[in-house]
Amino acid sequence: MNGRILIIEDEEKLARFVEMELSYEGYAVEKAPDGRLGLELALGGGFDLIILDIMLPGLSGMEVLRRVRKSSDVPIIMLTARDTVIDKVSGLDNGADDYITKPFEIEELLARIRNALRKKAGALPPKLLSACGVAMDIERHAASYGDTPIELTKREFDLLRFLLENKGIVFSREALLERVWGYEYAGDTNAVDVYVRYLRGKIDDVYGVKLIHTIRGVGYVIKDERE
Ligand code: CA
Repeated sequence: MNGRILIIEDEEKLARFVEMELSYEGYAVEKAPDGRLGLELALGGGFDLIILDIMLPGLSGMEVLRRVRKSSDVPIIMLTARDTVIDKVSGLDNGADDYITKPFEIEELLARIRNALRKKAGALPPKLLSACGVAMDIERHAASYGDTPIELTKREFDLLRFLLENKGIVFSREALLERVWGYEYAGDTNAVDVYVRYLRGKIDDVYGVKLIHTIRGVGYVIKDERE
């Protein structure tokens, strides 16, 4: 078993879907359809992680978050509706570990869960990242292809780092904008295309590799072709 996860979510279909996927991944799952039961179960303890919807009947997700945080540091991932920046900010301010915007890809939620559990276990994120012969040394803030350094601007570095850290997961432009640029960034998603183009110009075009793949109608992903 990978761990015990509590889903506090009143949308029955969504909760069931997430439960099914998490069970498939080897997590033990419990569900609560409203804030009060969710809080009760959460305070009962024994969970390794909680997925918490913000809009809940009974007791709001934010209130559940506040009360759980008084006595527990269990990792909590908030589910927020699209474009509710205020929810994300106050969720993080009130001690949520992460948030994910609905609708989301299940792979993204799984990646966040692994991340949160890893952080809680005190495991540091990997300092060396690589794919297709391209390597990043996060501590030295350096990227290279073989022995050849690749000069990147801060934003290019951050984007490449995020995609490499989440190798194999496809991210939409919106998700990349949120994750790399930050939720307070007001620009449009064209910025993502522009920076992907910059990276390809500095890496793919120079070294003849195919690092960042475009998934039409969805977004971008880094695949390690050799794996
Ligand atoms: Ca809801």
